[in-house]
Amino acid sequence: MLTRPLSLRDCTSERLSRLFVVMSYKQSVYRMTREQYLAYLQSEKWKRKRDAVFQRENGLCQGCREEPIEHVHHLTYSHCGDELLHQLVGFCGTCHNKSHYLTVKEL
Ligand SMILES: [Zn+2]
Ligand SMILES: [Zn+2]
Repeated sequence: MLTRPLSLRDCTSERLSRLFVVMSYKQSVYRMTREQYLAYLQSEKWKRKRDAVFQRENGLCQGCREEPIEHVHHLTYSHCGDELLHQLVGFCGTCHNKSHYLTVKEL
């Protein structure tokens, strides 16, 4: 069972304040404001990266290889805005949720 539902909006807005605290702490040269990040997600540059991830993974989720990709997920934000492609991975909705939240399950 998921501890909390997550939508793409959660990922790109609500969670950002914490993200930028972490990035500031690291003194990242890639630090950007929340507004810059939201603008980046609408940019051609980000669209090309998303397309490259879709192509690399043949449109299939890298969590389950069963469902189509719905989200391109950052494995790290350390080069946010200028990512290396291995820092991005395509997930279906279920696997994207799983990647963000620990789950408690009876196995
Ligand atoms: Zn999946
Ligand atoms: Zn994500």
